[in-house]
Amino acid sequence: MSMIIANNRPEKFPDWTLQKWQDIADLIAETIAIPAALIMKTENDFLEVFISSQTKNNPYIAGRKEKRDGLFSETVIKTQAKLLVSNATKEIGWDKNTDLKLGMIAYLGFPLNFPDNRPFGTLCVLDNKERSFTLLNEKLILQFKNVIELDLALMKSFDLKSNQLTTTLAQETVKRQQVNEELRASEERFKLLFNKAPLGYQSLDFDGNFIEVNQQWLDNLGYDQEEVIGKWFGDFLPPAHQDGFRKQFAAFKEQGRVHSEFEMVHKNGSLLFIAFEGEIGYDLYGDFKQTHCILQDITELKLSESMFRDIIEKNPMSIQILNMEGYVIQINPAHTRLFGACPPADYSIFKDTQLILQGFGKLFDRIKKGEVVYFPDSYFNVQNVDPSFPDSPVWTKAIGFTLNTNNGIPNRIVLMHENITERRHAEALLNDIIDKNPMSIQIVDIDGFTVRGNPAYTQLFGAIPPPDFSIFTDLESKGPELEKLISIAKNGEIVHLPDIYFNAHDVVSEVPDNPLWIRALIFPLKDSSGKPEQFVFMHENITERKTAEHELIAAKEKAEESDMLKSAFLANMSHEIRTPMNGILGFSELLKTPGLTGTEQLEYISIIEKSGKRMLNILNDIIDISKIEAGLMKIDLSETNINQQIEYIYTFFKPEMEAKGMMLAFRNSLPAKEAVIRTDREKLYAILVNLVKNAIKYTEKGTIEFGYVTTGSPTKLTEFQFYVRDTGIGIPKDRIEAIFERFIQADIPDKMARQGAGLGLTIAKSYVEMLGGKIWLESEEGIGSTFYFTLPYTTEPEINNRIPDDGSENKVITDVLQLKILIAEDDEISEKLISINVKGFSKEIIKAKTGIETVAICRSRPDIDLILMDIQMPDFNGYEASRQIREFNRDVIIIAQTAFGLTGDREKAIEAGCNDYIAKPISKNELLALIKKYFKY
Ligand code: ADP
Repeated sequence: MSMIIANNRPEKFPDWTLQKWQDIADLIAETIAIPAALIMKTENDFLEVFISSQTKNNPYIAGRKEKRDGLFSETVIKTQAKLLVSNATKEIGWDKNTDLKLGMIAYLGFPLNFPDNRPFGTLCVLDNKERSFTLLNEKLILQFKNVIELDLALMKSFDLKSNQLTTTLAQETVKRQQVNEELRASEERFKLLFNKAPLGYQSLDFDGNFIEVNQQWLDNLGYDQEEVIGKWFGDFLPPAHQDGFRKQFAAFKEQGRVHSEFEMVHKNGSLLFIAFEGEIGYDLYGDFKQTHCILQDITELKLSESMFRDIIEKNPMSIQILNMEGYVIQINPAHTRLFGACPPADYSIFKDTQLILQGFGKLFDRIKKGEVVYFPDSYFNVQNVDPSFPDSPVWTKAIGFTLNTNNGIPNRIVLMHENITERRHAEALLNDIIDKNPMSIQIVDIDGFTVRGNPAYTQLFGAIPPPDFSIFTDLESKGPELEKLISIAKNGEIVHLPDIYFNAHDVVSEVPDNPLWIRALIFPLKDSSGKPEQFVFMHENITERKTAEHELIAAKEKAEESDMLKSAFLANMSHEIRTPMNGILGFSELLKTPGLTGTEQLEYISIIEKSGKRMLNILNDIIDISKIEAGLMKIDLSETNINQQIEYIYTFFKPEMEAKGMMLAFRNSLPAKEAVIRTDREKLYAILVNLVKNAIKYTEKGTIEFGYVTTGSPTKLTEFQFYVRDTGIGIPKDRIEAIFERFIQADIPDKMARQGAGLGLTIAKSYVEMLGGKIWLESEEGIGSTFYFTLPYTTEPEINNRIPDDGSENKVITDVLQLKILIAEDDEISEKLISINVKGFSKEIIKAKTGIETVAICRSRPDIDLILMDIQMPDFNGYEASRQIREFNRDVIIIAQTAFGLTGDREKAIEAGCNDYIAKPISKNELLALIKKYFKY
């Protein structure tokens, strides 16, 4: 019942009411003859005797309060109904009533309420004796109840009014307090804003002079308060704008408000871009009081705005800004330049079929989701969008991303395009250049694994290397020089590799085994940051050039060597040739002296002869060494009987040795039958003759022994070891190696006593090596030397046409041999020499001077036994003559004779049909040996 409590504030009862109510109580008590008539009034937990009748025996004193519980009136208030108790003492529940203490046992009461039914109290009567009230009694009391309640209503209405007044007053006070509070707060806020806001504030008076500025204003423009207040605003503008301000300020005052953007001058002289928002403040009478203006420094904003605009407009890259549906919001000039036209307003990039066909739908979706998307190279032609657009196909590479609202929601799409048409063309061209290049091109990745090889590469190497083959690893393994070059290439430099020997077969086994000489260049391909990402290898096959080079080098070396040989020849030969020439010419001259004795003549002639022989030896040696050096010396293998050779030499030199008073001995280790090997007979002969000649030359007394032993088992011989031992002057230890060199003679004091060009041993060594053996010597100065050389034991036992046993088949030349000999020779001296030499065993000598003559004589004289055929003749030469003779005569023995002694002469002669060959000058012995070879004595 909060209401009761809430309204229980002291009510003011006007006097007229109290009096009236007293009269009512008195009237009731008197009329129905009862000791107490009461008006009870609720008073919180109590009931107050508000009005008590002025009757005899009335125990109730006005103003007295009783606890409500248990009171009759309390029940009336609660039940809001009449209560009638005739005798409380007889009714259970009432027997303990407080009123009983006052002697009151009968009760009749009615509730008294305010017009809004709020209880006021009761109107009741009490009696000290049992009593039953009449209807009339009740009616009377009810009538007064109405009167009192009317009063209450009246009072209430007064009460309400006065209450309302009070409330309004109170409310207004509160309101005023609130307004004051708000005013104070807003003042505080304003002060805060004024001083701390990031916006400048200024107030100007009617003339445009400063009344007030805030701190931000001062901060923005760099001034102190004193420098501003009272000054004209125009002074803070660039001078050119001051007049404009005057006009604008007038307009501002007229219109009451202004918005503009203009430049102001900072204290340091720099210009600031200011956004300006102003209103006029008026006084109570509505007249101009002052301006209120907010200023914002938008210099940065302006800058970044213009920067942003510039970035888009001046960007060489095409920029297109779309809404989220793909419709164009903005494009920059580069975009129009690139594509040749602006897209129409109803064009959405998301609906462009040529892009959708290139699979871009998914990429657009990813952009919309907020991803930064890099598009693959794409082809685009605006003419496909609208046929009226120019035919302007381009290749582009694009990047796409969204611009977001402040809340991070994408609301714009940016597409930036790069024109890669040229690059695509260049790429296509490059592909052509690579594929159609006749030069081998290989492209490898950063680790050297092959990415690509052009057809020329496959043609050169046979196949593309397998994926696990790294050319870098392969080259690096070939030595530190290549390793270094590869690291230089990896650093981004172009590198020329040295010539490389490479066999693709080692890498791909299916490729034929064909090693090549390759010259290669490594060219790094770099990414945009300049880091190599691929390498181009270009190969050139230089195998042929290399081979030619090697041959050239060999040839050059040979040429240099022969050049040296020539110089050495000149230096060394000069003496050797001059000496015998001196002998020949000197003694020929002496022979002319008249009156010489027979002995003197013979002596001179013998000297001339010796000198001639010596010259011839030198010439022969020179020719041989030249042939060897030129690589022209051929080997002519045939079955050779060693014993025969040894014995022949023995026979040849024996007379000379005996003449010198020394002994010559030989030793053959095998019986003649077995001493057969396949070798070059002439060369073996030359070697042995050389060594024996030297032994004789460098020995004054004692014995010279030569021969051979065999090595290996008797059943399986491996080689023949020949030796020539003398008891001569010997060779110093330090010269032993050198004497096999050309033109070298052991540097010993004795040297001057001997003749020789220092070629013999060189020739011998070359011959031995040609025949598969080796040569060496043992020597002791003053005691003697032994020269050794070996020849491999190579024989072909199955061949039956071995050289027959000693002399068994030789034609024996006897002094009685009577040959018919044709001498074909145009030179008279030579012809004479030959005629004299063959006189001993000829029956008839016929002479011819030309090829034709020779053939003719042959034809008419089939009885001729031997033709000594000069090769160099007028009309046709000796070869041709021999060839013609062979057409009709196969039996006649033809021996060719030439003055050149050069390689091939012999072969040519044999080929032309000659039986043998002899070099000029023709020695009697040699000729004799040849004739012995073909004719029996
Ligand atoms: P040469 O024409 O000078 O004899 P060789 O090549 O035959 O040229 O010999 C070279 C040199 O070796 C000779 O000059 C000589 O000094 C030395 N020599 C060769 N054979 C003998 C030997 N049997 N005894 C001593 N010295 C020799």
